[in-house]
Amino acid sequence: MTSGSPMKLDAVTKPVGFACDDHASCVVDGLSAAEARCASNGLRFTPVRRKVLEILLQEHRALGAYVILDRLRDEGFGSQPPVAYRALDFLVRNGLAHKIERLNAFIACAHPGENHAPAFMICRLCDSVAEAQSAPAQGALGAAARATGFKIERTVVEAEGVCPSCSDTAASETTDSGSATSEARG
Ligand SMILES: [Zn+2]
Ligand SMILES: [Zn+2]
Repeated sequence: MTSGSPMKLDAVTKPVGFACDDHASCVVDGLSAAEARCASNGLRFTPVRRKVLEILLQEHRALGAYVILDRLRDEGFGSQPPVAYRALDFLVRNGLAHKIERLNAFIACAHPGENHAPAFMICRLCDSVAEAQSAPAQGALGAAARATGFKIERTVVEAEGVCPSCSDTAASETTDSGSATSEARG
């Protein structure tokens, strides 16, 4: 939990997910942003699509399709896997949710309505996920793509580590920490 600074971070660059001031409004705001996006793009925000997004918004964690299916069944939406998969596919295709490849799970988009390249920070201890933005076209990858004439359509940026609320626990259980994966440098 960060405290003190009265200055709000820019909503676009603020990573969302590890903590929020008011989680009830996270859910409400997320649903109304999705409604607006669907309305302006002529997309049908059906009850099951809305319910799946609501389930995702209720967590700052990625959820697997079967967890979502269980909750749909509890809410009376039936228990056929295609119901969950089709709704998830809709949400991902339209930028309302993202798939976390590392976890084979899904999370509500923190910035619906904006075109963005998401980057995820995944806590390896509690599986919480925060979404930030990446700018692959501006980095070394973008330079390489321009140099080779490659057109980047999608990148997957998933950083694994320890979230703020787990970091104290991790610090007190100091194990040998030589397992940092080194990927892109510079
Ligand atoms: Zn997003
Ligand atoms: Zn954690």
